[in-house]
Amino acid sequence: MLSLVSQLIRAYQTIEVISYVRNPNHRPILYHELASSHNYRQRYWSRSYLGWPKMSESQPNATHDILKKLVDHGYIQNIITQNVDSLHTKAGTPNQNLLELHGTLYKVECMDCGDTSADRNLYQHRIHARNPSWKAMIGKGKVNPDGDVELPQGASYDEFDIPPCLHCGSQKMKPKVVFFGENIKHPVTDQAEKFIRDSSAVLVIGSSLATYSSYRLLRLAHQLHKPIGIVTKGPTRADNLMQWKGEVGCSPVLTMVYKNLIGVNN
Ligand SMILES: [Zn+2]
Repeated sequence: MLSLVSQLIRAYQTIEVISYVRNPNHRPILYHELASSHNYRQRYWSRSYLGWPKMSESQPNATHDILKKLVDHGYIQNIITQNVDSLHTKAGTPNQNLLELHGTLYKVECMDCGDTSADRNLYQHRIHARNPSWKAMIGKGKVNPDGDVELPQGASYDEFDIPPCLHCGSQKMKPKVVFFGENIKHPVTDQAEKFIRDSSAVLVIGSSLATYSSYRLLRLAHQLHKPIGIVTKGPTRADNLMQWKGEVGCSPVLTMVYKNLIGVNN
């Protein structure tokens, strides 16, 4: 397994990585719910407000750090991630080498005027200013990996005041992430396809490729005759497209690959 990954990285040097943290116990938010109901957005933002302090504390793990160093050393050209936690950015991966296919929780988007520039940390302060009594509930509920929190018993979000868009005044705000039922915007899909076309090989790390948006990129790579490797526990949707696969955890494999390619002191 180790030598296969090393060989792939050595042989082709330009590799895409698609990683994804699955969360099987948490019901996904549906785009049409968020788009069609102010009350649902109140629910979303109240829970997100409570979860943000914990969510925003999360730090990159060994995999993020190693991938960043493999980019620095030219072994990996670009990273495509399905995660919305911006941990590749926190690890220092340069923006030009990173595509967040499903967006990021660190930006807020207006569903009316389309502005996506609002910073989530600043938005947290604006939420607090409009809903000061909610601060006492921070830290009381379980935080899901997408930042969502179960509300404490008795808490009602019916009066929750959503800070409006600073450009158009609309309260139709959402995080800049792609929800189930929402289409990825064309500039993003175009960039993802460009990364695949520019690559010499594709390495999938920690993803079952269950979403069509990632599977179709692997299908494109296959059509373009790019070698495909997969390091993921369990079956993936692209198992019939790959050249080889290791059903192992990605962190120990990447640690060994990194030591082989670069050494321990870099
Ligand atoms: Zn707006």
